[in-house]
Amino acid sequence: MKALRVEDVAVTFTDSHRTHRALDGVSLSIDPGQTLAIVGPSGAGKSTLLRVIAGLLRPERGDVTLGGVSLAAHPTQERRIAMVFQDDALFPAMSVRENLRFAMRNGAHAAGIAQTARALGVSAHLDRRPRDLSGGERQRVALARALLSDPLALLLDEPLAHLDPGLRAAVRASLRDLRERFEGPVLYVTHDHAEAMVIGDMLGVLIDGRLEDCGPPERVYDSPANLRVAAFLGLPPMNLVTEGARVLGIRPEHVAVVADAPLRGPLERREAVGADAYLRVRTPLGLVLARVPATQPFALGGEIALAFPPERVRYFDAESGAAIS
Ligand code: ADP
Repeated sequence: MKALRVEDVAVTFTDSHRTHRALDGVSLSIDPGQTLAIVGPSGAGKSTLLRVIAGLLRPERGDVTLGGVSLAAHPTQERRIAMVFQDDALFPAMSVRENLRFAMRNGAHAAGIAQTARALGVSAHLDRRPRDLSGGERQRVALARALLSDPLALLLDEPLAHLDPGLRAAVRASLRDLRERFEGPVLYVTHDHAEAMVIGDMLGVLIDGRLEDCGPPERVYDSPANLRVAAFLGLPPMNLVTEGARVLGIRPEHVAVVADAPLRGPLERREAVGADAYLRVRTPLGLVLARVPATQPFALGGEIALAFPPERVRYFDAESGAAIS
């Protein structure tokens, strides 16, 4: 299997209202067997990136390669790159089995269909029509169909976006099964931070057409490359406090609420989210968010003392935004 590479890709859209740089020099590399999850806000350029890789959109600059060979001269149908979208359309008049058979590159192969259907948990639905399936089942059929097309790379565009939380968990598990059955590179784009961190071996952060950070999910979450990533990644993201030429960053779960700490201020708001509560404290340094167990009682307006454990603090250059190591 071959590595998928994107090299310095730029795309600009021009319509009657505006000129918009949707991708601004994006480079990335995905090894065979690896899943790169890209997270970014809506409008960041995620779908545009997938369209360029699939050959549906020609970039104004840059290249896409598979196994070191440029795909520039290859139209979509020759690239053998399968793409699964949110709300993927199956042929409504065909049964699931016929949909899967239709996708196969090398003709019908009953054993392959049965095996893939089993791996993705849709064996029981092979003789049904897509409209008689739930959203999650349809999505798993779409994944099975993509696999059966025998692709060299797999692109997934928010395939779980329209599923309810229970189904998302089930289909996410199917994605792990899929990972075991597919040896090529997988690119997964989503606006869901938690999903990206769970699904990706590598995590990329795309903001305004730029891949601002890319690396192992723990590293990107723990030590973001710059302020743009720090201010975006995490729900809620890092607290950022400007200190002259530097910006201090600390995640809400790392802020310590301790009686004798030096940073103090009144509790403005307390928001419970399941087992956690977020305390919004108005300090002389600005608003600071601290995560505590929801079982700890705190009175609104009461004084809260906070500490930033030094090993948890990250610093960024206030001017360039780059992380200071
Ligand atoms: P995402 O998938 O991250 O939500 P997209 O790749 O769909 O973002 O879009 C990136 C930006 O490019 C958006 O500002 C979008 O409005 C713009 N865009 C996408 N496709 C077109 C197009 N065909 N014409 C003009 N602008 C487009």
